[in-house]
Amino acid sequence: MNDKIPLQDVDNSDDAVQQVETEAFDLYEKREKIYTRKIKGFYQKVRLYTGWPLLLGYFLLPWINWNGRPSVFFDLPNRQFHILELTFWPKDFILLSAILIISAFALFTITTWLGRVWCGYTCPQTVWTSIFMWAEQFAEGSRNQRMKLDKAPWSVNKLLRKTLKHTMWVGVAVLTGLTFVGYFSPIRELSLNLLTFDLGPWEAFWIFFFAFATYGNAGWMREQVCLYMCPYARFQSAMFDRDTLIVSYDPERGESRGPRKKEDDYKAMGLGDCVDCQVCVQVCPTGIDIRDGLQYECINCALCIDGCNEIMDKMGYERGLISYTTENRLEHKQEHKVRPKLLGYGAVLVFMIVAFTLTILSRDELELDINRDRSTLYGTTINGEIENSYALKVLNKTQDTQRYLISVEGIEGLVLDGRTQLELAPGELTEVSLRAIIAPEKLPASNMQIEFFVTSEDQSAQVSEESRFIGPSIR
Ligand code: SF4
Ligand code: SF4
Repeated sequence: MNDKIPLQDVDNSDDAVQQVETEAFDLYEKREKIYTRKIKGFYQKVRLYTGWPLLLGYFLLPWINWNGRPSVFFDLPNRQFHILELTFWPKDFILLSAILIISAFALFTITTWLGRVWCGYTCPQTVWTSIFMWAEQFAEGSRNQRMKLDKAPWSVNKLLRKTLKHTMWVGVAVLTGLTFVGYFSPIRELSLNLLTFDLGPWEAFWIFFFAFATYGNAGWMREQVCLYMCPYARFQSAMFDRDTLIVSYDPERGESRGPRKKEDDYKAMGLGDCVDCQVCVQVCPTGIDIRDGLQYECINCALCIDGCNEIMDKMGYERGLISYTTENRLEHKQEHKVRPKLLGYGAVLVFMIVAFTLTILSRDELELDINRDRSTLYGTTINGEIENSYALKVLNKTQDTQRYLISVEGIEGLVLDGRTQLELAPGELTEVSLRAIIAPEKLPASNMQIEFFVTSEDQSAQVSEESRFIGPSIR
């Protein structure tokens, strides 16, 4: 048996060392700018029909009034969050958290079922990048024209086109920042203040912060956000199974790839359906070649499907060389529409939606908080009656002005002295000081439980809270 370790001569020359050093430091691969080709097709229409309602919703909601205030409004100074008819108070924070958790589970369920449709069709990064790409094509022309323009030396034409593109980008970015801040501060005033250069320092900071982020992410970074910054892109593969929808190239049908004329008998030439035209690569916003197999860079936008279908139509071949499919379908294995993972996510989602809806429907529209004055056990009036003092906080959680009546029960003959009738504006919180008074001979025990009630004038809402009434020792 040969037990010697083979030795190899090492080249210690300066050139070799320098080469190793250069290779060792050359870890960073320069980003190649992606020039996407414009494409039309079925999935482009779907993207249009899903993207536009989202965009319109985002830009218009702060302008649409609901009960005299913006339909979605996060009123931080008054600590109230309004979403259409619903108002959330600081105590409802758990409900706001529930909305986020429900949204997350909806996303998990859809991802297990339909793959990265969120990334491809509805993610703000995708939608805003599409707007910025449209502006780029409008200002600088088609893919080839843009590539030529970037290579060309500076000229008046180049300067004008670049200026137009960046002006459009900045316009969309500022509008995006303004709208975002409009969810926290009334947008009509905000817009006026922006136009008259009269913004407060925080409003100005946040508008320009979000404008800058939009300009940078959608204009410059684009696919880099999906590839390197988005945490969801990293862990969503955990939700995938072999029956999740993916965008995939069919190598059985496509290979061997190669150019040919439409009239050629390509099968006799040993070729598959892929004409190697590179259209699927040129339209891809992340710059990958889907023919290399399933890749984490693929955001399932289906642009390559539209691009390839166009080529298949031109060649007179059947569509679907690149298509939405599943790993099982690609391998001719049995597909499963209903899977344990999907059922699990779906069941949790339905349970949470039902629980959330019931909680919202059974929410009190009125809140009461009572503090008994603990500085003295009890007091005595000039008539010799026993009195206890209480501070009540009453909050009107409805969207209308309400009248309320305060009453107390628990001891016969106990009466309230102070403001027992209130009128509160929507969302108003008021503090009321009340004295509960009783003649000493009517007090059955020295320490008794009593209950305060706040009832709306039309009897539609009532809340109560218990407290104690303390008097002198009774023998
Ligand atoms: S490979 Fe196709 S589906 Fe994936 S990102 Fe590129 S164009 Fe979109
Ligand atoms: S678009 Fe279709 S035919 Fe053209 S290279 Fe891509 S897979 Fe092949």
